[in-house]
Amino acid sequence: MVDEIKRTDTGYRLSVVVPVFNEEEVLPEFHRRLAGVLDKLPAQSEIIYVNDGSIDRSLHEIRRLKKEDARIAIVDLSRNFGKEIAMTAGFDHARGDAVVVIDADLQDPPELIPEMIKHWREGFDVVYAQRTSRAGESVFKKTTAHLFYRIMQKLSRVEIPRDVGDFRLLSRRAVDALAGLREQHRFMKGLFAWIGYSQKAVSYQRDSRHDGKTKWSYIGLWNFAIEGITSFSTIPLKAATYLGMLTAFAAFLFGMFIVLQTLLYGNPVPGYPSLLVVVLFLGGIQLMALGVIGEYLGRMFDETKRRPLYLINVYEEAQDKKKSIE
Ligand code: UDP
Ligand code: MG
Repeated sequence: MVDEIKRTDTGYRLSVVVPVFNEEEVLPEFHRRLAGVLDKLPAQSEIIYVNDGSIDRSLHEIRRLKKEDARIAIVDLSRNFGKEIAMTAGFDHARGDAVVVIDADLQDPPELIPEMIKHWREGFDVVYAQRTSRAGESVFKKTTAHLFYRIMQKLSRVEIPRDVGDFRLLSRRAVDALAGLREQHRFMKGLFAWIGYSQKAVSYQRDSRHDGKTKWSYIGLWNFAIEGITSFSTIPLKAATYLGMLTAFAAFLFGMFIVLQTLLYGNPVPGYPSLLVVVLFLGGIQLMALGVIGEYLGRMFDETKRRPLYLINVYEEAQDKKKSIE
């Protein structure tokens, strides 16, 4: 296979995909560090900056960097599509034998790339970075993240490794496999796991953001968690069935109790409070079940429209024919 040949050759082609959304403060430092790492590799490389509709001067900054570094390619999206789709746009344009995806905020150290490549050349298709520490993150964020992984593990059949972000290296066939998954709701951690193939972890210390601030709000993280669960599990839908059965059973017992009570003691005061409690309880359960169905239905609605995942404003290829990928 072509893939195999490229791995044993000394020369191989490497693409680095960097989603960028309002990162003007860190870009120069990020590029300096990434370029430093790539310079030492025996690879033809391209760095694909995907500008995800930044409203600051990120694009300007990337253009400036491109003048000095011919390895840079720019994919400028027509608006902000979110990191998952920005990454996908990058993968679609990557031409390398191996593709690395890395955050622009320097939370993922570029210095880890050579080690990832080492494992890729040993034959692994996916080499992901697993963090040993989460510096600069609150206890609340750490606990909720931990809980999320636990729940995902229970609910879905794809095994999502813990403490793993998007920072990883993918072989050509892994990228091609991923490119075949065109769903609108892209829970990347799940998709990366779904494709399977041989996977390998390398561990690293996750730093806090070099500059700028995180784009994640807690509401954003909550939606992300819902996205993850609904994309990879239908158990919440089944839960409604069982919850309904359980409630019906409880109602049956309660009914028996009322009948017995009336037979034994008569019915001096009609049970208004218990009636209200039951009605409210059932109403609540029904709304909840409807909500769960709605989550899935809404996603089906989005998928059936079959819109393109993203639109591109401008695509500028990497320039230098000698150093970059032809
Ligand atoms: N990002 C993006 N589009 C978005 C939000 C973020 O391309 O809508 C990029 C961002 O520029 C960075 C990476 O995704 O390179 C990770 O974003 P962030 O640091 O905000 O996320 P966190 O590290 O907190 O998970
Ligand atoms: Mg970050």
